[in-house]
Amino acid sequence: MDKLLSVLMCCLLCTPAWALNSFKLNNIATEPGTINSFFVEKGSVNLPVTVIQGEQEGPVLLLTAGIHGDEFPAMFALQRLKNEIDAKQLKGTVVIVHLANLAGFHGRRIALSPLDEKNLNREFPGDINGTHTEQVAALLTDEFISRADFLIDMHSGRTSGTLLPHVYSPFVGDKKLDKLTFEFAKATGMQHIVMYGERPRDPENSISYPNTAMTRGKPGLTTEIGHLGQRNEEDILADLEVVHNAMKFLKMLPGSAKENPAPEIYNSLTSIASPADGFFTASAKVGDKVEAGDTVARITDYFGEPIATLKAPVSGIVLMINQSPPIKKGETPVTIAVK
Ligand SMILES: [Zn+2]
Repeated sequence: MDKLLSVLMCCLLCTPAWALNSFKLNNIATEPGTINSFFVEKGSVNLPVTVIQGEQEGPVLLLTAGIHGDEFPAMFALQRLKNEIDAKQLKGTVVIVHLANLAGFHGRRIALSPLDEKNLNREFPGDINGTHTEQVAALLTDEFISRADFLIDMHSGRTSGTLLPHVYSPFVGDKKLDKLTFEFAKATGMQHIVMYGERPRDPENSISYPNTAMTRGKPGLTTEIGHLGQRNEEDILADLEVVHNAMKFLKMLPGSAKENPAPEIYNSLTSIASPADGFFTASAKVGDKVEAGDTVARITDYFGEPIATLKAPVSGIVLMINQSPPIKKGETPVTIAVK
């Protein structure tokens, strides 16, 4: 065997045929076995991103925090993830969007961006020539979702409300995709799984971030962990557990995903609207099992007099509940998940 042939044979044998190439995002390359943190900039948008590029073939997992700027645990969890993954042991690619709504974060805003008063999770697939929030949505659609195989959009309860940790498993009428998405949702290890099929199935009117993935044939989950603008250690760890389980399910890390041993699966959500303006006081708390007709909250007027009682219209579990006193007629401060 001449020298050239032996070098060639060594290359073939030593470099697995499934080795990955560099991963390019907005024309910034991340080499195999490395971790790269940078900003993706386009128009008025600036997204802090980390790409972890494995050395061996595997899926592209897109993890996103801060679609709503006041939901903090996932932001901290993904910062830690960046430091704990060994790119040389990873199969595939992890793309982390550390904070999708930088303007909302610095503006301390609930859901809306202070730049255009839009909710990013209602503006997909976005418009690169539109308002700031529409541009963020377009960049996430065109540059991130287009490159991903699986997506987890990581949320929390807003600063004014509490919630029971849960994961939304969307379905869009594509049997294979819906089944894979449900398996992915179970693999997160979360106990409370909400089946969700209420978004449009038109990719050009996808509305939310995960539905933009779903309408493009890619499983897209939403997780809800933590609330009240807090950054509790247990919520950060719960977010990290979801991500580790997801990566094991996708064979990006060794080991098996740990499904919850007693999953609770809900097929619908029912929100209770206030009939009046005034002060809201919850009498139920998240995780309570309620029967139809049970009182879950009371409304008092500006003089402190009782004016309404909110009762559960269905039996189920209290999934989300407002904790802030101001309430307007028609607002829905309580959500019940129903099996
Ligand atoms: Zn959110």
